Amino acid sequence: MFFHVILTTECNLQCRYCFGETFEDFDEDFADFDVDYALPRKVNYDFKLLAKFCSEDPECVLTFYGGEPLVCTNEIRQIMDSAKPRHFMIQTNGLLLDKLEPEYVNRFHTILVSLDGDEALTDYYRGVGTFRKVIDNVKLIVKNGFRGELIARMTAMEHTDIYQQVKWLVDNKEFPFSSVHWQLNAGFWANDYARRNFKSWSEDSYVPGVERLARFWVDHMEEKRKVLKLYPLLGIANSLLLGEKESLLRCGSGWINYSIQTDGYIVPCPAMWGMKNYYLSHISNAHPLKLKKTFVDAPCTECDILNVCGGRCLYANITKRWSKDAYATVCNTVRELVNAVKKELPRINELITDEKVSLNDFKFMKYNGCEIIP
Ligand code: SF4
Ligand code: SF4
Repeated sequence: MFFHVILTTECNLQCRYCFGETFEDFDEDFADFDVDYALPRKVNYDFKLLAKFCSEDPECVLTFYGGEPLVCTNEIRQIMDSAKPRHFMIQTNGLLLDKLEPEYVNRFHTILVSLDGDEALTDYYRGVGTFRKVIDNVKLIVKNGFRGELIARMTAMEHTDIYQQVKWLVDNKEFPFSSVHWQLNAGFWANDYARRNFKSWSEDSYVPGVERLARFWVDHMEEKRKVLKLYPLLGIANSLLLGEKESLLRCGSGWINYSIQTDGYIVPCPAMWGMKNYYLSHISNAHPLKLKKTFVDAPCTECDILNVCGGRCLYANITKRWSKDAYATVCNTVRELVNAVKKELPRINELITDEKVSLNDFKFMKYNGCEIIP
């Protein structure tokens, strides 16, 4: 099982799509849900409980999460000194990566660093100077011996040219990201769709960009004999190549991937912190392998591509913060992403037959924080 360990709800950045949106959405009361807005700002349970909980699952993976988890470096050290999961991972904005000693950083199996693309775009979304500091830190941890998977995790929305920005990350020689994942800022807030241009951006820029990216991805396989870890493409191609009949929610939330709140209660996904109706249990008395499962409901259950999409996002499916039409616009991006990969499948199969790449090259660690469906 995978567990996001939410160390804090505090963050040291004020990104447009997160901090900015909380102000725009201030009048939205989330009325259909009983939400505990008084969760401790920092993790406040005994770490021995977490160590014990984790010890009951031989496959336990703990991923530090926030807010920004690295504002809790002491807590990270304490947990890493006491718990013995199969792997530790972290999702961070990267600004404080230099504050954790290499003896801890080098134990991470995977580090997901939020970066939206090049310097201009990252600093536009995340604040001036963010890009440079993050890149300096990433270079530092590699210099200090980190050899795990380093994933650039992009948030994509209207200022993003997805083809250009992913390609920029892939082509960049200055810093060593081994993989790229992107996630759409879609369906998380209630009031944003009406004032944004999501529909026209997704149709005119994003979808054509993804198609181009899929072509580039396979061209790259042809030329370099290497399968780039572009997670949304990789995850879908992996399923199609293996002939998978059905995919459950690909981020794993609610069935293989859970989140532990700062007070020790377990919820299906990190975005669902405080949603009391979905509290599963507390780490003091839960067994990691016996947690209740939560699956997506309509409209996903009636969708003709549920078997490959998996439902995209449990949080969006449950909260339905975007209207039906807006939801359908997001689904269109999923449909087109799947089509873009399907279109390239004959070329990929040919490359496998010609032994330019192998099926093994499409393997990856599932549920590692990359949701696959953006
Ligand atoms: S495409 Fe949309 S409706 Fe269909 S399974 Fe995915 S998220 Fe659900
Ligand atoms: S995709 Fe949705 S359900 Fe999955 S982790 Fe992200 S917010 Fe949670």
